[in-house]
Amino acid sequence: MKLKDKVAVITGGARGIGKEIALMLAKEGANCVLCDVNEEELDKSVAEIEALGVQGLAIKLNVSDLGQCESMGNKVIDKFEKIDILINNAGITRDGLLLRMREEDWDAVISVNLKGTFNCTKVVVKGMLKKRYGRIVNIASIIGLMGNAGQANYAASKAGIIGLTKSAAREVASRNVTVNAIAPGFIDTKMTHVLPEEVKEAMLKQIPMARFGTPEDVSKLVLFLVGDDSSYITGQVVQINGGMLM
Ligand code: NAP
Repeated sequence: MKLKDKVAVITGGARGIGKEIALMLAKEGANCVLCDVNEEELDKSVAEIEALGVQGLAIKLNVSDLGQCESMGNKVIDKFEKIDILINNAGITRDGLLLRMREEDWDAVISVNLKGTFNCTKVVVKGMLKKRYGRIVNIASIIGLMGNAGQANYAASKAGIIGLTKSAAREVASRNVTVNAIAPGFIDTKMTHVLPEEVKEAMLKQIPMARFGTPEDVSKLVLFLVGDDSSYITGQVVQINGGMLM
């Protein structure tokens, strides 16, 4: 039980990578707050968390709305009195070639992925600084490091998260709050299921380990970054991609 009695907030925690992260942290004893726009999956996932013997809390949250994030922070403090861990995982794609990309698709992706990470960090970090303890992990992407045709908005949002991670890490390091980013490669979730088969085959050819990653692969790395074994690591971007980018 590496995280007994810790309180973790996971955005986009209703399904996919976020849900797997929540299950992993719960297995290690953390009480988990799942925040998501997907209400239907949210309640089911919180029930799975509670079945592991920890406390869970479901909060309907659109991370791109600062007011909603502030009220999320208040609800968590009302119930648990502290937040030790924040996983900024909520993310969306709205793919399209730059010349054809609609302004609303640019705005939506930047707003959820980048502004959402800023909003939740801003709300949560104050309490962490006061308690002189905190672990923040931002889920970026390999695309934020290498770019991808058809994903200018997504790449910009994830590269932005990397800049935000490093700046925040510098601001809060002296108070024992670490801020790191994870840059996953191709992970098998609903986000990637929708891609055409030929795109998936082309991706697979670029992965030296010849398989897609799983949400569990990512959650094991998150567990390391929120635990005591990584207490001297901050401001880093840790890649997890089967060798796709070295
Ligand atoms: P996913 O299966 O689509 O799950 C994302 C979750 O976030 C969904 O429950 C979604 O709700 C929720 N969400 C969407 N917009 C939100 C908002 N505004 N506020 C709160 N929650 C919101 O995606 P995933 O593959 O698990 O991805 C998780 C994170 O990993 C994302 O940041 C993604 O960019 C990143 N990532 C994924 C991959 C990959 O290959 N899968 C690779 C690199 C990085 P709905 O169900 O209603 O959409």
